[in-house]
Amino acid sequence: MQKIILLQSSFAQAMGVMFRRSLGEKVFIFIYPKKTRRLFQTFFCPPMRIVALEKIGNQQAKIVFEKVVPPWQFVPLPPADLIVEMAPEVRVDEILITEILSAVGKHRHSAMGGVDANTGVQDLIFALFAAAVADLRRVRAVCGISGYGRIDPEIIKNHFSPWERGKILASAGFILDCRIEAQISIPDGAISLSRQMLDVENAFQDELFAAALAGVPWDKDFSKDCIRCGKNASWRFVLPGENLPPELSWRLMRPENAVPLCRDCARKLHFAKNEKVRHQLIWGLWGPRFEALERWLWAVQGEGVYRLPRNWNKADYPLWPEEFGGRDWASGSGDLMNCVPREPKNIRRTQAQKRILAEILGSTSRLP
Ligand SMILES: [Zn+2]
Repeated sequence: MQKIILLQSSFAQAMGVMFRRSLGEKVFIFIYPKKTRRLFQTFFCPPMRIVALEKIGNQQAKIVFEKVVPPWQFVPLPPADLIVEMAPEVRVDEILITEILSAVGKHRHSAMGGVDANTGVQDLIFALFAAAVADLRRVRAVCGISGYGRIDPEIIKNHFSPWERGKILASAGFILDCRIEAQISIPDGAISLSRQMLDVENAFQDELFAAALAGVPWDKDFSKDCIRCGKNASWRFVLPGENLPPELSWRLMRPENAVPLCRDCARKLHFAKNEKVRHQLIWGLWGPRFEALERWLWAVQGEGVYRLPRNWNKADYPLWPEEFGGRDWASGSGDLMNCVPREPKNIRRTQAQKRILAEILGSTSRLP
């Protein structure tokens, strides 16, 4: 069930869904005083689905724009009454549109007498630059830099996770690309740090951007129920990533490489000692999503028949190449729509995968 949130004031709309890791079950509705073309942006936002609705009376609406948009983009929208943002995987059907219309009801944009929301734009731009500069300030603090000092790549590597490095890179790019157009004066130190960051992280740029999308921490928001008995569990990882550099190994920290098991069940199944059980369990639980991840690992390690395609576009397929998975979440896609970590629900398992799960977990299992 989706939770609907109305954004009626200019400031709430300017901030929108920025600085959230994922939109989860929430649906954000932007209400405007009049129908006109609008420019949306997704800076500091997770990947999301943007939908523009044109009202037909009070009960119905038609979709005039719908697209899954990656972070760090401007999105021109056609004239519409309502703009709606939600997680990429949320389906926009008649039921959801009806819910949206009834939630909007008689609510209006809070500006008085049709004064437009241009005040919000300036607030927004300042908020964006402030957030970007704050990221670089963290770099400066961690490296102990004063004035125009140099960034130490080793300190960056040790102190920040790959997804944080990707986010800092995006901030650095934003500062360098947008400062002139926005006519905002940025401290010289921040500009120097931005250039250095892009330079220092040059070798792994695309991997770090992918990590900023798909390598975000997830375990705090996930269910902690053991899949065998339902007791309090911890997520246990299966494929080892010690031999890989952190710029690549973040994929093995994904939920597709983990199983929630309590201590008792882990002991009974010999999870720690028995590699075969570990592999069967993860293969059964995550089905095609695990298979795609494993193909990626084989390709990286040069084992088996899989090779990384030379034209792998990590901006569209952050998790693994298009060829390694299916077309949607259920069948193992690693595209932008399916790269935000999710629990192992709605996975398309083969009969063999279902059977092995039933064998290992028994009839009492809490299979999602
Ligand atoms: Zn258990």
